[in-house]
Amino acid sequence: AKGIRIQGLKKRYGSGDTAVDALKTVDMHVAPGEVVGLIGPSGSGKSTLLKCLGAVIEPTAGKMILGDDIIYDDGWKVKDLRALRRDRIGFVFQAPYLIPFLDVTDNVALLPMLAGMPNAEARKRAIELFKALDVEHRAKAMPSQLSGGEQQRVAIARGLVNRPPVILADEPTAPLDSERALAVIRILNDMAQKFETAIIVVTHDEKIIPTFKRIYHIRDGVTYEEEGEGRGFE
Ligand code: ADP
Ligand code: ADP
Repeated sequence: AKGIRIQGLKKRYGSGDTAVDALKTVDMHVAPGEVVGLIGPSGSGKSTLLKCLGAVIEPTAGKMILGDDIIYDDGWKVKDLRALRRDRIGFVFQAPYLIPFLDVTDNVALLPMLAGMPNAEARKRAIELFKALDVEHRAKAMPSQLSGGEQQRVAIARGLVNRPPVILADEPTAPLDSERALAVIRILNDMAQKFETAIIVVTHDEKIIPTFKRIYHIRDGVTYEEEGEGRGFE
């Protein structure tokens, strides 16, 4: 089983009388090449779940399997969560968070460079993504010279550049108009298929919700799968 699989994930903050069970039962599977939506009201546990999936915080219990590797298993965890976060998980946020004093290419090439890739190769990889994302003509620009939509596409390139098997996108279309929002989702779908990436999009953006073949709803720390047309795996 490839992609990402989560079974019975739980997260408790604090202990005793003041404990908060932010995640009670989370079960998800996202196959390589698939883009799924994750939807839930404020306080339902979305941020907590994203942080667990992104190895930013550790769950209290439950299992997470990435590709063939067990990452968490009922309190046990893989040793190097930092390396996992750097090399195997891509993040795309609502705001692009580009580094203002680096040009667009270096913003994207920085991550593979930090991971040890030669600079020329890292830049080449960034440019390849810019072609796919139709921002190649902006490669030498500074972030402040880009439109919001262009910045967001650069941020997507940064999320993809290490070719992580999983991408977590937190409200990636929130600031975009309908056309650009749908374009971003199209890009994520193309990229998912091209690089066999499993992509989870946290959103409440009504413009893009109909585009997901599968959606997980989270409510009060419990996930429910909404079955769509596109169910193609066990
Ligand atoms: P969402 O992102 O859907 O708004 P969160 O994951 O932020 O939900 O929060 C889920 C629940 O966990 C809420 O009740 C919230 O108050 C609580 N919570 C989140 N973070 C913490 C924390 N660091 N310490 C204690 N409780 C927290
Ligand atoms: P968001 O849903 O956008 O993350 P929140 O207000 O839920 O915004 O959370 C902001 C930050 O505060 C998060 O890091 C979250 O973990 C933390 N947090 C949320 N609720 C609590 C809480 N009850 N106690 C401590 N920290 C919390």
